[in-house]
Amino acid sequence: MNKTLVTGGAGFIGSHLCKKILESGKKVICLDNMFTGTYDNISELFADPNFEFINADVIHPLQIQMDVNEIYNLACPASPIQYQYDPIMTTKTSFLGALHVLELAKKNHAKVLQASTSEVYGDPLIHPQKEDYRGNVNMIGPRSCYDEGKRVAETLFYDYRRLYGVDAKIIRIFNTYGPHMLEKDGRVVSNFIMQALNNKPITIYGDGSQTRSFCYVDDLVNGIIAMMEKEDFAGPVNLGNPQEITVLELAELIIRKTGTKSKIIYKDLPVDDPVRRRPDVSLAVQKLNWTITVPIEEGIDRTIAYFRSRH
Ligand code: NAD
Ligand code: UDP
Repeated sequence: MNKTLVTGGAGFIGSHLCKKILESGKKVICLDNMFTGTYDNISELFADPNFEFINADVIHPLQIQMDVNEIYNLACPASPIQYQYDPIMTTKTSFLGALHVLELAKKNHAKVLQASTSEVYGDPLIHPQKEDYRGNVNMIGPRSCYDEGKRVAETLFYDYRRLYGVDAKIIRIFNTYGPHMLEKDGRVVSNFIMQALNNKPITIYGDGSQTRSFCYVDDLVNGIIAMMEKEDFAGPVNLGNPQEITVLELAELIIRKTGTKSKIIYKDLPVDDPVRRRPDVSLAVQKLNWTITVPIEEGIDRTIAYFRSRH
């Protein structure tokens, strides 16, 4: 039987990924230190005999007894508030986590996929962002622990390919949203929905003209699995929604969808907050035959329904 390791598997994206892989009949080991992951996210998976959970930290060498033939490395907090909480830990998680999954992949002759990020492009000067763009990244700012950690992880992935022939693959994920986001993890979609459901002020940072491109989690997970299954393609490949909207438009959408009484308030823009972000996904379309199927209007409806059900 195929065995798959998902690090960060109790987090937002990881829990959906574990579920989808289990549905294909494979055995899944979910490894997580529960920093931003929750047992709630994976509670339904424990009933499946093919599911195993290990509470461990990727900064330590991985003591996985069972052979695994696929590894998805998602362990790393993704929300700016969470990754800036202990920035040194974030850099260690990115670098040492990548090193340890690569060592395990080398030992097991396993395929290994790194969940990299659009943050490797920093505050981009090229728009939309293509994979060959090398980015505009501050190496000493508050976001650097994450951005530079993810960049050096990509470097390690390519060096393990070149030196040891490890089948190491890289995806660059753009802003993703959906059920299983933490209510309080500080990302914009969960913040706005929770504020709207509680009739509290909607907090826009800056003037709301900055843009992002929001991908529904089910679409992203399909892209992640397609990348793992694609032979002779290492990436990096962008995965995200090519439709770009401003933060103000997102706030207005969520106000309309929830019917909230909340009013918008404006707060200071965080340091180094990227001004524009939109993926060029032509490589994903060409190599993986991957496209978005859930428009933002529908994905936001589903996400609001999830947060309402927990309210
Ligand atoms: P998340 O915070 O919900 O999930 C991360 C998971 O990793 C959590 O379960 C957390 O407990 C675990 N983790 C953190 N540090 C760990 C460590 N040292 N050892 C073991 N486990 C650890 O975030 P997410 O949105 O699900 O993101 C998953 C991955 O995708 C991350 O690597 C992130 O950088 C990447 N990504 C996400 C987005 C997005 O929009 N969600 C965008 C770009 C990249
Ligand atoms: N943002 C906002 N209000 C919030 C949370 C975030 O205006 O309550 C903005 C943030 O400044 C950024 C965008 O929304 O411009 C996306 O932020 P998020 O933290 O979700 O992800 P990022 O893409 O910045 O990593």
